[in-house]
This record gives sequence, structure tokens and C-alpha cells, in this order.
Amino acid sequence: MKVLLVEDEPGLVSVIVRGLTEAGMEVSVAADGNMGLEMAQTHSFDIIILDIMLPGMNGIQVCKEIRKQNDSVAILMLTALSSTENIVTGLNSGADDYLAKPFKFPELEARIRTLVRRSKIGSAPKNVISIAGLEVDTLSKTAKRDNKNIALTATEYHLLEYFAKNQNMVLSRIQILENVWDIDFNMGTNVVDVYVNYLRKKIDNGYDVKLIHTVFGMGYIFKEQAPDETSN
Ligand code: CA
Repeated sequence: MKVLLVEDEPGLVSVIVRGLTEAGMEVSVAADGNMGLEMAQTHSFDIIILDIMLPGMNGIQVCKEIRKQNDSVAILMLTALSSTENIVTGLNSGADDYLAKPFKFPELEARIRTLVRRSKIGSAPKNVISIAGLEVDTLSKTAKRDNKNIALTATEYHLLEYFAKNQNMVLSRIQILENVWDIDFNMGTNVVDVYVNYLRKKIDNGYDVKLIHTVFGMGYIFKEQAPDETSN
């Protein structure tokens, strides 16, 4: 995880750098606002920790400038005063969260991890369901595995989307029939097995990690499972 720390207080910088490095993060430091902005614009970081009171450009201005070009990087503001006004100004300038000084180091680390996780989730397109290199795009109704397009018929696509939206759940043949074929009379669940086999050939054949699994006597389950787990 790459962290940019923009902070001018040497004592605090060394404490944060040591702690985050020990936690396995890669930390770059800028000691004033202008340098911080330049580094944020020229390098890629997972999170920027930004002090408000800085020499040169202050943290609020730096944050606004970063946000003009970059919506996705997580920004955690450090505020010396926990006054409501300071916090509101910080968040209005585009920061994701703030931490009031003085703070305990574990709190900083926890905030960083939460923000980075949240920003990663937020940046994934909401219409794409991903699992084990398979991407199902529910807008364009297409699928890829390891970036290779998979040609699917309409029924195969609907079956795949139903599986992808109901991962890790045992789905009976009747359930699949009702949801994918949209009929409530029993036309014979054989058709489900036939289509599951078509789909299997297209999305699982040739891949180590299989997604479609038969649950004997019950139906099917769609989940990520490496070959060495299949005996479970
Ligand atoms: Ca400062």
C-alpha cells in the first residue's frame, strides 16, 4: 500500500513513517503543501494523509487541487483543532475522513485501512460482478474471463448472471428454471443441466479455478474453488 504523508512536524513524521513502515506500507513524505501537491499529481498513491496547517499551500487548498484531477485516491485530513468548522471545511474540500491531533497510532492505521478498502470498492464499476478473473457486465450483458470475451447466447448469459448474483448459495434446478427461464410450470429440469453444461464449457473449461459446481441431490453452487479443495 502506497501512502503519501504531507506533514511539516518532524517528530510526528518520524512516528508515522516508522509505524506505517512496520505495518508493511510504503510511505513517501512531503514537508510542505506545494511539494505534497506535486507528488500527489505525479505519483500514484492509495491514500494521502494531509495535515491542514502546512507551510506554503495549506492542506485544504492542496486537497481541493488534488480533487480537480483525482476523485478516487483516499484522503485523510489531520486537524490540529477538532473544531467543527475545521472538520467541515476539510470534508468539504474533498477529504474522505479526518483525524484530530493528538491521535494514537493504531487509530491512524485503522482509519487508513478502512479508507483504502472503501475507495477500492467505490472505484469498481457497480454494473460489473467479478469473481476469479470472470467479469459479468450487467449493463452490456457480456462476460469476460481473464480479459477474454466469452460469446454467450441470451439464455447462457441470463444463467450466468443469475449464478453471479447468487454466489455461494446452493440453487436448486427448480429455482434456476424459475429465475432464468421465467416460467412457473415444470417443463423438466433437464434443460437446466443442459445449459449449465454449455456455460461450464465456456467459462470454466481450461481454468484451474472452477466456478460452477454440482451439489449432488440439490442443484448447483456458483463459487470460487481451487482444484485442491474439490474433495471437501
Ligand atoms: Ca502542521
